[in-house]
Amino acid sequence: MAVIKRVLNSIHLEHRKSTMDLATEVMPVPDRVYISVVQHIGAPCEPLVEPGDYVKVGQLIADTEAFVSAPIHSSVSGTVVKIDKIMSSLGSVDKTIIIETDKRQEVWEGIARPHIQSREDFIAAVRASGLVGLGGAAFPTHIKYNPKNIQDVDTLVINGAECEPYITSDYRTMIEDTENIVYGIRIIMKYLDLKKCFIGIEKNKPLAIKKLKYATKNMEGVTVVALPSTYPQGAERVLIHQTTGKDLPMGKLPADIGIIVSNIATVGFVSDYFKTGMPLISKRITVDGNAVLFPKNLRAPIGARICDIIEHCGGYTKPPKKILMGGPMMGRAIYNHEKALIKNNNAILVFDKEKASFPEESDCIRCGSCFRSCPLNLMPTEIEKEYHLANIEGLKKLKVSMCMECGCCSYVCPAKKQLSMINRLAKRMAQEGKK
Ligand code: SF4
Ligand code: SF4
Repeated sequence: MAVIKRVLNSIHLEHRKSTMDLATEVMPVPDRVYISVVQHIGAPCEPLVEPGDYVKVGQLIADTEAFVSAPIHSSVSGTVVKIDKIMSSLGSVDKTIIIETDKRQEVWEGIARPHIQSREDFIAAVRASGLVGLGGAAFPTHIKYNPKNIQDVDTLVINGAECEPYITSDYRTMIEDTENIVYGIRIIMKYLDLKKCFIGIEKNKPLAIKKLKYATKNMEGVTVVALPSTYPQGAERVLIHQTTGKDLPMGKLPADIGIIVSNIATVGFVSDYFKTGMPLISKRITVDGNAVLFPKNLRAPIGARICDIIEHCGGYTKPPKKILMGGPMMGRAIYNHEKALIKNNNAILVFDKEKASFPEESDCIRCGSCFRSCPLNLMPTEIEKEYHLANIEGLKKLKVSMCMECGCCSYVCPAKKQLSMINRLAKRMAQEGKK
């Protein structure tokens, strides 16, 4: 029976995906890498190496026994010169392992394909690979793939929407690594005993849709869903709704409605790891923006600094005013280009003063556009009001915790109000129960 879907609000954005046809280049190893012990949501890892140690590619260099965590491996061969406390691109000050590279890229002797015979082996291998959500969430994948009610989960939803402007790294994964994705789906469905898989891809990527449809045509239970080219199709709640027709209730996780959601690059990496045994040490990213000389899709080592990545892309064309790690809607602005690449970064965008300028805010004209654009039917103006009153109960009533900070409300507001930022602060206020 066909699923009748309610249409969720979304907005039209200029896609600006000018790097779409640029095949992924491999970035040469820089002189130093800066590998933070916080590369995921959860507990920080502790360094397992000391200054003076020689490390090899793929070697475990930081780990913890904390439940929500993922181990960290060296992306290079070279000598650990320092373990320093540095503010990472996540904004926290964390221990950072600084490695001077010898450019030989010697591979650690312990690299071996994992031997898997059971679901438990599979989950353990995913943890050992250091995998976290590569679409931006950075949640440890072995936890996501092992919910308490795994016996009730039967569906894998794969996010290939890549709905943010500029970013094309997932698109290149779908074009360049199609077979890898197919193998990753097979392994995940087999070991998690999932019966159905939906791959959601925006219609503005017809070649990716065609390739994945062709590659999965004989796979039972696997469906490629062409999504509208509107934002934010890749947001978890929206994606689940658009692919399966199900609504994710407030306060529930996808597993509660029988679903595991995974980004397409995450699925591709599962395949890589099971074929080679090489843990997560590099990342495919899009480098773009009007202040970069040669925009590119790049495979860069984890720990490479933004300045080294930009230099590889020909340097700046104009003084950079804003550097974003991620897309223009949900990315994180960083204050200097010495920050290093971490596992969940999928783009570096650099804009000049003109592009990065903030429009001046004016009074609300009560047009209702912010409400009409919100995929979750939240009321940004009411949230803003309750936030300024520090009314925590009011914020809870307005379901502020559901806000996914997609930025649609701010984008459409003719008064240029920073609603999404207020929502983020209001969410924190409601969570912490204090101003
Ligand atoms: S940022 Fe929050 S309130 Fe604004 S449109 Fe997105 S989900 Fe709705
Ligand atoms: S979109 Fe902006 S101007 Fe319109 S109601 Fe919302 S806050 Fe007010």
